[in-house]
Amino acid sequence: MARRRPLQRSPGRPGAAPARDAALKALRQATRFVEAGEYARAYPILKRLADVAARRGMPRRAGYLYLQAARARLEMGEPRDALVLAQHAIQHLAGVGRVERASRLLLGTIQALEDKGYREQAVTLRAQVSALLGGSGLAPSVLRQSTLPTRCPSCNAPVRPDQVSWIDGRSVECVFCGGVVRATDSATDG
Ligand SMILES: [Zn+2]
Repeated sequence: MARRRPLQRSPGRPGAAPARDAALKALRQATRFVEAGEYARAYPILKRLADVAARRGMPRRAGYLYLQAARARLEMGEPRDALVLAQHAIQHLAGVGRVERASRLLLGTIQALEDKGYREQAVTLRAQVSALLGGSGLAPSVLRQSTLPTRCPSCNAPVRPDQVSWIDGRSVECVFCGGVVRATDSATDG
């Protein structure tokens, strides 16, 4: 007795969905590797996805992915590559006016470079980010009282309050896929 399974198709352009699904699957795999500290396995996936996003004219996504690739490369002890990748990220994010929004992430990358003793790369990156922010330095970090989901609804990457790019007081951009993650107000008595 064979049960027929209804064929479900996601709406939208027919050719776009499979590529998007494949990219999403790869991204989920990469975030799992990052979470497990397996940066050498995460890195090639992140880099490839970033290159694809850049080629396909998705600069915001490319920017975040290059930044994640940079962090992975840094963890692998390759600060020069990490700097180049972070610079790619800045280029893409600057093109869509996202550097300020992503400044917290960039600051995290700079901090990581410093922590690992890669001072030269840290100084270079800090100067570039500061220049793009109009000499105002890195944007002050804003801690919101809203509650974020622990995972991105789009790609399932972990959402860490100290590592997000706030769009406004209620939503953030996923640092892996650039998707919007909405916060809910934290419950207070009354
Ligand atoms: Zn995501």
